[in-house]
Amino acid sequence: MDITQLITDELKRLEESKTYKYETALASPQDGVVRVGARKLVMLASNNYLGMSNHPVVKRAAMEGIKKYGYGVASARFLCGTQTIHRQLEKKISKFVGAEDTILFSSSFAANVGFFAALTNEKLGFETYKDAIYSDRLNHASIIDGQRLCRPEVTDKKIYHHADANHLEQLLEEDKGKDYRLRIIATDGVFSMEGDMAPLHRLAELAKHYNALLFVDDAHGIGVVGKTGRGTAEHFGVLGKVDVLIGTLGKAIGGAAGGFISGSRELVEYLRQKARTYVFSNSLPPSIVTATMAAFDLLMKDKSIVRRLHENTAYFRKEIKGLGFTILEGTHPIVPIMLGEASLAQDMSAALLKEGVYIKGLWFPVVPRGEARLRAQISAALRKSDLDRALDAFGHVGKRLGVI
Ligand SMILES: *Cc1c(COP(=O)(O)O)cnc(C)c1O
Repeated sequence: MDITQLITDELKRLEESKTYKYETALASPQDGVVRVGARKLVMLASNNYLGMSNHPVVKRAAMEGIKKYGYGVASARFLCGTQTIHRQLEKKISKFVGAEDTILFSSSFAANVGFFAALTNEKLGFETYKDAIYSDRLNHASIIDGQRLCRPEVTDKKIYHHADANHLEQLLEEDKGKDYRLRIIATDGVFSMEGDMAPLHRLAELAKHYNALLFVDDAHGIGVVGKTGRGTAEHFGVLGKVDVLIGTLGKAIGGAAGGFISGSRELVEYLRQKARTYVFSNSLPPSIVTATMAAFDLLMKDKSIVRRLHENTAYFRKEIKGLGFTILEGTHPIVPIMLGEASLAQDMSAALLKEGVYIKGLWFPVVPRGEARLRAQISAALRKSDLDRALDAFGHVGKRLGVI
């Protein structure tokens, strides 16, 4: 078998089915306006919701981190990779989200891959047992992969309709008589294709009623959603009712890398022993740890940052609708602009790029057929003039392509 031929065929198939992912290299930091080649583009495609990726305070803290604590620790946490700053950051995050304790991972992908198997594959005093995981149909790839590591003989996996608490309730009710050891409800806080949120107030009620653990991956929520940026739980008034909260340091909070799990003291202590992506993987570099602390401090001290994000989002949502575009309603800075056909989404993102707007399109199979869209992501780093420049371009291009 010729492996090169096999993978070349597959690459060709990806191109033909328009699912090949192209990379455009930025010649500048991530920011509200970026440089590609010689051109300056308004960035509407990043997860840099709070504009911290290139914030002077965050950058200075990263440099201080290197000066005081070095470049890397060259060790997993339990060997010799824990510095005082790692514990400080974990305490800071716990305080921010209102949890007893927090454990850092090299990414939130790693957090999710480490979490599920750490619980379900362990006997914990049981000779025979079975656990059940209830997952939202649109959960992130890392949650799905994390669950793939759960041994099927001891884990039943069930999928409920997207954001549908009634369907989840039905599944939990059907399983009421089964003597599962653990029941875990797993959901994204914010879903990145739609910009919508899991109904956490309902899920928290169900978790309590059916004695299940509520797991929420709030990668697009922490620093973004809720009046003070504490995430989807704050939005729904259930702060402190999420048993297992996942967050990323690779989006709103600095955008470099890293993830965390916040929960009870016992759960975090247990994960430090059992989560394989923690035990067998390197500790977060000092510069990221100190910069992340500065990012959280900024977020807590300067309330205007989140406010600006929310104001920019409301403005963009209102104006883009005013131009005649159809968007998915909501309040999140992820704003899906619905176009229908994949070819239209492709043409429109190419035309917008020429007019100075960096935006990405999504089409089948990433989203359902006929629901191709451009996904705008709004940031506090965008000035009103940047937003207006982008909206002008949307107006021109939309008219030229007959969308509005
Ligand atoms: C982006 C994202 C991740 C991955 O985050 P990293 O820290 O970059 O690994 C995980 N879960 C969800 C829901 C995400 O949106």
